[in-house]
Amino acid sequence: MKILLADTILTMDPARPILRGGAIAFDENVAEVTDDQSTIAKLKERADAIEGGKNSVALPGLINAHTHLEFSKATTELNYGSFIAWLSSMIEKRETLIKGLTKTHIDEVLEDTLRGGTTTIGAISSYGFDLESLGGAKQRVVCFNELIGSNPDAADQIFSAFLDKLAKSDEYRSDRFTSALAIHSPYSVAPTLVKKAVALSQTRQTPLSTHFLESKSERKWLESGSGEFKSFFEKVFKLNAPFCNAKEFLSFFADARTVFVHCANADDEELDAIGGLGGAIAHCPVSNRLLGCGLLSLEKLKNREIPYLIATDGLSSNYSLNLFGELRSALMMHEGLDLPLLARDLLRSVTDSAAKVLGLNTGRLASGYAADIISFRLPNEVNDDALLPLQVILRAPNAMDNVFINGERV
Ligand SMILES: [Zn+2]
Repeated sequence: MKILLADTILTMDPARPILRGGAIAFDENVAEVTDDQSTIAKLKERADAIEGGKNSVALPGLINAHTHLEFSKATTELNYGSFIAWLSSMIEKRETLIKGLTKTHIDEVLEDTLRGGTTTIGAISSYGFDLESLGGAKQRVVCFNELIGSNPDAADQIFSAFLDKLAKSDEYRSDRFTSALAIHSPYSVAPTLVKKAVALSQTRQTPLSTHFLESKSERKWLESGSGEFKSFFEKVFKLNAPFCNAKEFLSFFADARTVFVHCANADDEELDAIGGLGGAIAHCPVSNRLLGCGLLSLEKLKNREIPYLIATDGLSSNYSLNLFGELRSALMMHEGLDLPLLARDLLRSVTDSAAKVLGLNTGRLASGYAADIISFRLPNEVNDDALLPLQVILRAPNAMDNVFINGERV
């Protein structure tokens, strides 16, 4: 058994969210979280305690529910400011970005996010180039194997190639590696393929992911088959009409545990539908800003009890995969919301909420949960509980003092 002592423990357990002068006792799972000093003294007799240090904060390891590691080479090559300009630059530079990508590079990116406190990665795997890295990662992994295919006449062929890709990911399955499915988007996957993937995901009982209404151009294309997507689709996919509208697309996801990614341009009705489906939304504020997609309303999600998960997206639409950095951006961008409450919700979104949505027994420091724990030292004390989440987000360093996954120090 290990014991981590911390001046403050942010448990993410609503029953007792903040403990002062506490200890976490854990093996693979958390055995006990306590601030009772006589219990702590007894625990210390059983094992050597790890001191978190002065002004230390311990919290559950962070969960980045949506990223693309296959674009880890991207730095200054791409166009920002407009979705179509970005997409065109992605297509133009794709070969260069992918050619330059090595396993070592992805491993380094994963290490970097781990140091920064991300203990679970939800990675969209489009080509399988990241599989070896994900399979050997120290992090907990949800590998979202992505289906893309716009030609309904080739549906069988596309799906059987997809199943081959999925089988390779399945070889890495373990208590730390979930092999899951992703559907690229309503504009790039034919409905017959969408339905097959949703059904398969349900049978496998794994979470499902799909990009949805990221840009204004996507909305216009799905609504009326017009706008900036039109010439792009005619040229790239030989398509002159959308497969379905947004509402129809959502109807394919009944009873699926779906993470809808972005939704920055979803209207009230579509958000109602997502709420009705029991869906969650991955919110990547920096990516949305860089691609000119607009800002999702967190208030609208809250009113509909739709869980949101702050995530970084890939390095093709971000300058960093540091999740604390993304939370800082979210704090600044959602300027209309009450600051301390927003900070609390943001931290919950990348711990307890994300774990629930992804079906993981982590994200909370409470007895029986997997011991994914991080700690670092604040520069000074924070006595006001209400301001603690805010200061944690603002002051988290790029490298944690302690990172444990399944109770093992990494
Ligand atoms: Zn994405």
